[in-house]
Amino acid sequence: MYKGSCLCGSVQYQILSEPKKVTHCHCSMCQKQHGAAFATYASVKKEDLEYVQGEGSLKSYNSSGTIERKFCGQCGSSLEWGGSPDYAEWVSIAIGTLDSPYEPEKVDNIFRKTRVCWIGEVNE
Ligand SMILES: [Zn+2]
Ligand SMILES: [Zn+2]
Repeated sequence: MYKGSCLCGSVQYQILSEPKKVTHCHCSMCQKQHGAAFATYASVKKEDLEYVQGEGSLKSYNSSGTIERKFCGQCGSSLEWGGSPDYAEWVSIAIGTLDSPYEPEKVDNIFRKTRVCWIGEVNE
């Protein structure tokens, strides 16, 4: 089990299973939302993401189509990416918010075409 929280601590969550896939997403929407070169997300089964505290503080934003991004309404930490009809049972967690140590076996880079030049080369 992994635990995570937002910057201000209002939202606390736990992940009950081993995340399936971890990606650095270099799309322009993730760059904007995270204010960073890319966002790193791990996909977990919806039922394995449990909010321990502060679920009511979450705000959501519909960034494209059915995609919904959730963040802490107090501090703005990005927490969830979900709502994809192709992966209806899955949700992605921004793992920069984890408090538990987590070592993914591998991390894929996606939307590499829009990656910023100032982070150097990235792997597939
Ligand atoms: Zn917060
Ligand atoms: Zn993205």
